[in-house]
Amino acid sequence: MTARVLVVDDILANVKLLEARLSAEYFDVRTATSGQEALDILDRSPCDIVLLDAMMPGLDGFETCRRIKNSPLLMHIPVIMVTALDQTSDRVRGLEAGADDFLTKPVSDLALITRVKSFVRLKMLTDELHLRARQGSVGVEDRFSLADLTRNEPGRVLVVDDRASSSERIAQGLASENRVDVEALPQEALFRAAEGNYDLVIVSISLADYDALRLCSQLRSLERTRMLPILLVAEPEDNARLLRGLDLGVNDYLVRPIDRQELLARARTQVRRKRYTDKLRDSVAHTMEMAVMDSLTGLHNRRYLESHLSTLVEQSIARGRELSVLVVDIDHFKSVNDTHGHDAGDDVLREFARRVRKNVRGIDLACRFGGEEFVIAMPETDGELARMVAERLRQRIAGEPFRIAGGAKQLNVTISIGLASLDGAGETPEAMLKRADLALYQAKREGRNRVVAAAA
Ligand code: GH3
Ligand code: MG
Ligand code: MG
Repeated sequence: MTARVLVVDDILANVKLLEARLSAEYFDVRTATSGQEALDILDRSPCDIVLLDAMMPGLDGFETCRRIKNSPLLMHIPVIMVTALDQTSDRVRGLEAGADDFLTKPVSDLALITRVKSFVRLKMLTDELHLRARQGSVGVEDRFSLADLTRNEPGRVLVVDDRASSSERIAQGLASENRVDVEALPQEALFRAAEGNYDLVIVSISLADYDALRLCSQLRSLERTRMLPILLVAEPEDNARLLRGLDLGVNDYLVRPIDRQELLARARTQVRRKRYTDKLRDSVAHTMEMAVMDSLTGLHNRRYLESHLSTLVEQSIARGRELSVLVVDIDHFKSVNDTHGHDAGDDVLREFARRVRKNVRGIDLACRFGGEEFVIAMPETDGELARMVAERLRQRIAGEPFRIAGGAKQLNVTISIGLASLDGAGETPEAMLKRADLALYQAKREGRNRVVAAAA
């Protein structure tokens, strides 16, 4: 994993030390010896993470952090504050300034590399999601910021620890910001984690009758818990197992005796991360859905049809298979709106779409082409079969009145359908739709509520 790390410390020896350790892990390291220099570098070139010394003359680490987190362009860059060991108040100040995490001097190799790697992973994930969300044309980054996500709602944390004294201490330490459940039975923990809608699982590495790392690996492989952050609580002598845990995808760790402030901060970071990626994921999924679906009817939209119909035509020609399209238009739909109102018109469109879905096969492509006009593409369907499908759909619409206004009123609705089937190797989607459209026009002219097939 290569990533750009900016190391900021006013003491050159500290900078060199961190630079050497990070370079040994193949990170691309930039350095600065003041807060202002760091901000200048960030303005000029993108970085994936910043390691920021708290105590510096001039612009100190807290103020530098605040400026990064207040800049719309920089706020997504993770900031790890580096503080002196005995300065508990500095950690609090750093977190208040918006720092994502902190390391205490002297910085251990394991802590340094674990935290940098874990934030870089998150940063790459969020960069990717942002990119995709942007391609879907929604400015996700305008709509929320990392810190907003934990301000209001408490985190939901599951603590897996079979020693009551220990789990109680952890639960108490987290209580001010989180809703905590404790599970003493590791076998139950997996089910609870999968069912419970948690933001974080904290696992004690030293369970009496169960391998805690097995639980971690199960959490990582189960679909429902794959994205659920895991925080390991390790014993000081358990370095080897801790490393294996981190290899398995554990997100972060704490070493006993647990420092309450550190516990809270690490839990908060993981909860934020979970909320943030959930939200991005939802938003990306939503954006992608919006791009291909019609929101009123839940059918595919015109854009989707246009990109897929050409594939269907090409494939059908290449494989020597049949293909038919129906263009369906609701008769006198304007008068539904005029007589019963636009909402009633929408009810009719939704109910129509529901009946369409019930009457076509899974491989058929049903789309709202626009307004009250729909297109149904049917692979492996010749003209004769298509006519039967169209006729059946016509009957399903005309045969049973539509309920509108919440079921208060009933309305008779009819449709006209134009049909065209694949015609030779030179066929194009445009030509097919054009022929079906002409057939539809004829159906309208001949009195509506009927199916007309285009001459091949
Ligand atoms: P024809 O039998 O010739 O198709 O007559 P028509 O009234 O159905 O056709 P026309 O094209 O004159 O009118 C279509 C109407 O569909 C006009 C428009 O207001 C309405 N419409 C289009 N989209 C929507 C929609 O999303 N909701 C509602 N309620 N009405 C819509
Ligand atoms: Mg300093
Ligand atoms: Mg119409």
